[in-house]
Amino acid sequence: MDAKYSIVVPCYNEEETVGAFYDAVIPVMDSVNEPYEIIFVNDGSRDKTEEILGELAKKDKRVKVINFAKNFGQQAAILAGFTEAKGQAVLDIDVDLQDPVEAIPEMIVKWKEGYDVVHGKRLVRKGETFFKKKTSTMYTNFFEKITGLRIPKNCGDFKLFDRKVIDVLINMKERDRFLRGMTEWVGFKQTYVEFERKKRIAGTTKYNFSKLLKLATNGIVSNSNYPLTFSMKFGILGGILSVATFITFIVLTILKINLPLVSWLFPTVVLCFSLSWVFDGVSNIYTGRIYKEVQDRPKYIIREKINFDEDFSKTEER
Ligand code: UDP
Ligand code: MG
Repeated sequence: MDAKYSIVVPCYNEEETVGAFYDAVIPVMDSVNEPYEIIFVNDGSRDKTEEILGELAKKDKRVKVINFAKNFGQQAAILAGFTEAKGQAVLDIDVDLQDPVEAIPEMIVKWKEGYDVVHGKRLVRKGETFFKKKTSTMYTNFFEKITGLRIPKNCGDFKLFDRKVIDVLINMKERDRFLRGMTEWVGFKQTYVEFERKKRIAGTTKYNFSKLLKLATNGIVSNSNYPLTFSMKFGILGGILSVATFITFIVLTILKINLPLVSWLFPTVVLCFSLSWVFDGVSNIYTGRIYKEVQDRPKYIIREKINFDEDFSKTEER
C-alpha cells in the first residue's frame, strides 16, 4: 500500500542522532495508524550515517534511504526527499530531534482540517546562542522588507505539506533553494502548530558561519531583485545632487561670488559617476528580467478549480 505520509529527513554526519530519531519517530507514526514512509537523505556524510541508515532500511521497509554522491546541502537534500516522496502529506524534519516528533500528529490533524501547509512554530529555542537567535530574527525582518514575503516568525524547515504543494515545490526549477521563502511564495492555505525547540540530542550543528551566510544570501537573491535597483537609485540621487550644485555655482558666479576653478570639479565628477550608475541601473533592469525568466517560476498556481468537470458541450439549447 502506498504511504499516506512521507517523513523527509536530511542527514549530514549524523551517526550520533539517526538511531535515536528512528526510535523516537516510529512509535509516534505508528500511533497515527495510517501507512507512512521515512525517507532519510544522506547528504554526503563522511561518518557512519550511511551504514546505520543501511541497517535501518534492511530491517524496516518503511525506511527509504537516498545517498548523495557528496554534500550538496540541506536544501538539496530536502528537494531529493520531496521528489521521491509518495505520501499525500509530506513532512520535513531535522534528524537531531530539536523539532519534536510528538508535534507530527498535531500537524496531521491540521492537514485533515484542510490546511495545505502546516508550519512548526518555535515558542522557545533551546541550545542556540543569543547571537544565532538575534541574527535569525534580524534576517527574517530584513528578508520581509526586501522581498515583500511574510515568512512566519520563528518557523524553520519543520513543516507539513499537502501533495499539491509538494508538486509545485518540486517543479520550481531554481537551483539555489530556500524552502522558507518558497513556501511563502506559493501561497495556499497555511497554518502552524507551536512547540518548544529543544537542544540537539547529540553532535553539533552542521551549519558553520559560511554555510549560514550562503543560505541567507540565497534566500534574498532567489526572492528579490531589489539589490539590482541600488545603482539606479544612487545614480538618480547623485544626478540630482550634481545638477543642484551646478545651479548653485552658476547663481554664485552671476552674483559675482568667485569660486576657485577646482570646485567645479566636484559636481562634474559626481555627474559622471551618476550617469554611469544610471546606465548600470538600466542594464540591471534587464538582468533582473532575465534572472526571473531563467528562474522560471510558475506564473500562477491554481489551488482549486470548480465546475470544470461539467460537460456543457453536449447541451442542445443555444
Ligand atoms: N544537514 C544536511 N546537510 C548539510 C547541513 C545540514 O542535510 O549540509 C541536515 C542536518 O543533518 C540536520 C538538518 O539538516 O538534520 C539541520 O542541520 P543542523 O541541525 O546542523 O542545523 P541547526 O539546527 O543547527 O540550524
Ligand atoms: Mg539542528
